[in-house]
Amino acid sequence: RSPHVMLVGPDADKFVLENGGAAADASYFLDGGQDFSDVVLPDDIRIIPPGESVAPAKTAYSGTWAGAWTGVPMNHVLVVEEIDHDGARVIYAFGSNPFTPDGKGLYRRLPGLFVDGALQVTEPKDIGGFTTTYRLNPDNSLTVTTAKRETGESYQTTLRRFTGLGDGHNGGTVGAVVRDRCGDLAAGTSTGGFGSKTPGRVGDVPIIGAGTYADNATAAISATGHGEFFMRHVVAYAITAAMRHKGLSLEKVATGLIEQELAGKGLRGGVIAVDRHGNVVMPYNTQGMARGVTTNEISPKVEVY
Ligand code: ASP
Repeated sequence: RSPHVMLVGPDADKFVLENGGAAADASYFLDGGQDFSDVVLPDDIRIIPPGESVAPAKTAYSGTWAGAWTGVPMNHVLVVEEIDHDGARVIYAFGSNPFTPDGKGLYRRLPGLFVDGALQVTEPKDIGGFTTTYRLNPDNSLTVTTAKRETGESYQTTLRRFTGLGDGHNGGTVGAVVRDRCGDLAAGTSTGGFGSKTPGRVGDVPIIGAGTYADNATAAISATGHGEFFMRHVVAYAITAAMRHKGLSLEKVATGLIEQELAGKGLRGGVIAVDRHGNVVMPYNTQGMARGVTTNEISPKVEVY
């Protein structure tokens, strides 16, 4: 009942309950009769009582929006990381686009509050002292009103929501594969995951064997693309297994998988991989995949298409 393979945490609990599953209280798993009532918690930790959950209307505020202030040469980017009841962790950026290479955007993590169903962020004085209210529209855009009481200044604009950037334009994943001078292989992958995913979704990247795998006997692999496919088929591991058990080359296995099997199913993705001899392959079936390679013999080469 979900396009995703793995959900974790409170969102997974919510999903189970909404879909007719049964849940046991955490105390079910305790065998010594402990209830942890004697544990002293720091003041800033709020225990969420069982049953209480974030209203769906508020969950819709989690994501990234951006746009420019009308009449003011200033971009505005809002990233809402995590919503907890009436509060939200907001990454707030303005001044210029923090995603541009000059990176001059002012980029702060601020607490947000839900007031009358809208998200409200009050900046500290040193970054302007404006109080900004974000109200979600039915088309997922945000109407933003910002005002500073002391000066009477006030502005309004609309921010557009970033959803998945579409085939080949998913820019959030970075992977690395390495063969060192001793022949040891290593792989690593980092991602923000797909946009517009269900809260609580875990993708292939942190699952060793799915989006990331290294084995000195065969190859090191780092994947990008449709994480659910990579998890279901344990793709990174499967590439090394085919090399090991069928004696196939990295190029044959990785290219066949990405360019034929994945593409044939309409799934988008790619891998970067190096085998134990230092052969590098980087097949993808998207419009482009930014990639680079260097060795002790060749200087760095980069390509996008
Ligand atoms: N594989 C990542 C995920 O499914 C997304 C990506 O690489 O673009 O979360």
